[in-house]
This record gives sequence, structure tokens and C-alpha cells, in this order.
Amino acid sequence: MATTHALLGLALALPLLAVAPDLAPAAFLAGLVGGVAPDLDLYTGHRKTLHYPVYGSIATVPAVVLAALVPTPVTVAIAVGLAAAALHAVADAAGSGLELRPWQGTSERAVYSHYHGRWVRPRRWVRYDGAPEDLFVAGIVAVPLVMLGDGPVTALAAGLVAVSAVYVLLRKPLATVAERLVPLLPAAVRPYVPARYL
Ligand SMILES: [Zn+2]
Repeated sequence: MATTHALLGLALALPLLAVAPDLAPAAFLAGLVGGVAPDLDLYTGHRKTLHYPVYGSIATVPAVVLAALVPTPVTVAIAVGLAAAALHAVADAAGSGLELRPWQGTSERAVYSHYHGRWVRPRRWVRYDGAPEDLFVAGIVAVPLVMLGDGPVTALAAGLVAVSAVYVLLRKPLATVAERLVPLLPAAVRPYVPARYL
């Protein structure tokens, strides 16, 4: 779920607290943005348009090298942001496929690999976004953020876990709510509704 992606992105910035604390704020911000940004493609080519599991991972390498050689807020933000976006795309393959009720396990499309030119199948280690094990992952990742982060990071990590818990409780009813609301939308809006809701 989005909150787990956010926490994973934030966690990538944790090493900065040890090696260059003055650059940590830029790294946390970049990790947060990079962690959630890929899902901005939700309404156009979801898990394809902004998801780059292979190219994103490859691009992260020179960015990290550059940040290590020339550590500035900008280079560190680029490195952590790219790493977070790549991790997001890779992590999507650990979950379920693209479908309205992913716990049914009917979709074989987890994330698109532009490098391979095909969809990567879902591993379902986390059965679906908002599954109890998704909350478990979010909680585990949040522990070092809450313990090591400063005020805003600690509060944000705790808040993300709280939002995750609510989402997990509502996840399955939400699919039904979405299904009932979509037919009520004006015809002009319908083309922009992702296919899985129709
Ligand atoms: Zn995603």
C-alpha cells in the first residue's frame, strides 16, 4: 500500500543520519517523494508509466556514486529519490496483481518491466495491498524510523502506520464502495476510471 511504500522510501534515508546528518532532511524528503511518486500513474498506465523496476535500479547506482563523491542536498536527494522509486517498483512485484479485488488473485500483472518489455507476475508474498502482512511490513520498517528519526520523521512514520492500520481494516469494503460509486460518475469522467473499477 502507499503508506508502506512511503515508509520504505523514508527508511532508505536512514543511513544519512549516521554519515551526513546535515543532509538527512533532504534525503528523508526525497525518500518520501520517491517512495510514493510512482503511483501517480494510477489513472494512466498504472504500474507501467512511472514504474521502472530494472531501469530505476540501474539508474540508482551512478546516482549513489555521485552522491557519495559529491554529497550535497541535491545529489543526495536525487540518489535517495531514485532508489526509493526503484524500490517501490520492485516491491510491487512482491505483492498482488492489478485488479479491483487483488485477494482473489486473478491478475498476473504486478508491475511492468520496460527492460523486459513485459509484465512481471505478482509473487504475492504480501497477498494484496492492505493485507495484514502489508501492515506488518509497514510496522517493521517504521521501527527504526520512529526510534532514530528526529521529530518530524518520528511523527510521520507513526502517522503512516496509523493510516495503514485504518486502511487494512477498510480495504475489502472499499473495493465494494468503489464498484458502487463508479456507475454514479458522469459519463465524461468514465474514460479516466481505471479499467479494474468498470
Ligand atoms: Zn506502485
